[in-house]
Amino acid sequence: MSGEVPSTDAGPEADTSHGFDPDTWVATRKSDDLYRDLQPVDTVTARAQMAPDPKGSEPEYGDEQIVFAANNYLGLAHDERVQAATAEAARKVGAGAGASRLVTGDTGVHRALERDLADAKRAERALVFSSGYATNVGAITALDPNVVFSDELNHASIIDGCRLSEAETVVYDHCDPEALAAAMALREREGGDNEQWLVLTDSVFSMGGDVAPIADICDVAERYGAWVMVDEAHATGLYESGGGIVQREGLEDRVHIQMGTLSKALGSQGGYVAGSEVLVEHLLNAARTFVFSTGLAPPAASAAREALRVAREDERQRERLWANVDRLRDGLGSMGYEVWGDTQILPVVVGDRADALALGERLREHDVIAPAIRPPTVLEGTSRIRIAPMATHTTEDVDACLAAFQTAGSALGLI
Ligand code: PMP
Repeated sequence: MSGEVPSTDAGPEADTSHGFDPDTWVATRKSDDLYRDLQPVDTVTARAQMAPDPKGSEPEYGDEQIVFAANNYLGLAHDERVQAATAEAARKVGAGAGASRLVTGDTGVHRALERDLADAKRAERALVFSSGYATNVGAITALDPNVVFSDELNHASIIDGCRLSEAETVVYDHCDPEALAAAMALREREGGDNEQWLVLTDSVFSMGGDVAPIADICDVAERYGAWVMVDEAHATGLYESGGGIVQREGLEDRVHIQMGTLSKALGSQGGYVAGSEVLVEHLLNAARTFVFSTGLAPPAASAAREALRVAREDERQRERLWANVDRLRDGLGSMGYEVWGDTQILPVVVGDRADALALGERLREHDVIAPAIRPPTVLEGTSRIRIAPMATHTTEDVDACLAAFQTAGSALGLI
């Protein structure tokens, strides 16, 4: 060692070969019609929003725009009962949990919510996490499976859970139990002994609005003793007992892990797992996104609990939602649009990215907010507008949406 300290002054001829190049990344995404930007919103109501006028340089306020792209399906984020429960918890318990649930962050609000979720999901016990994303990543990695069998259109948080778990991931064709059976048969022949297998599927697919054949998936999994985990993010609160598709189809005893979010029909924030007592004991010790993360904010927990109560007891919201769904589906179909899905999520598939972008922009000009969904969120050639009506939309809102689709689609030659 000479003891000579290297100069830190690289001078004007600095070598940039070890740096990053976000400029090229961003420029390529822009030229490929794939760049996404934040969409500022100032005021949000149960059916509409006020955005700053995109044309004004100063934050002048634009007209009210009807939101048809939120996951707040029952409008409960703006329900007065839910808002009152949120405020009360903030005052009595605090704005934040202050620590991990395992340290000092475990409040009565969390426990009451977990009891109610377990009841709604007809499970022994539930555990809440700070987001749905953290729930999937935490639960999958905590189980530490050897092999996961995952539907090809599962949500990104499931995909990331699989990646982080380091399990061998077998992706099977979308909603195809026969493809799953074939993959399992192959693994049985070629895989190792005593492997632990986990089957993962969304119940309602977020971008397609279609429903997984969960009973058939359980049939296949049971042949091999594999566990089944179902992501009910887009179904929780919309079916029997405030549950999801698992409740609608009475599959609680066959699905080992019911996962969901508090952030969609329940209008709050957070995620949950419902299952057996021992599953929850395992997760609260081993799920790193639970152990090493601050507990769900008590106001969010309290909001979700009240929203779950309203979703269970007040059927009017659900009836309004399904009436809006039917009216939109019929109207769009009769205009000649290709509308997929079997649930409250109505994907209007136009195919080309640029067409989807143009349609989304035209809808916005007509004060309807329903942006284009493009790859990588959906497969190439299936770009779409994903319409998500809410229980709080009036019939006039739905008709305004239909009129906007008619005018925009005709102008662009899409219908
Ligand atoms: N699973 C699915 C199917 C989802 O659609 C989402 C959110 N888009 C999540 C999980 C993640 O939930 P959260 O937004 O609460 O993190």
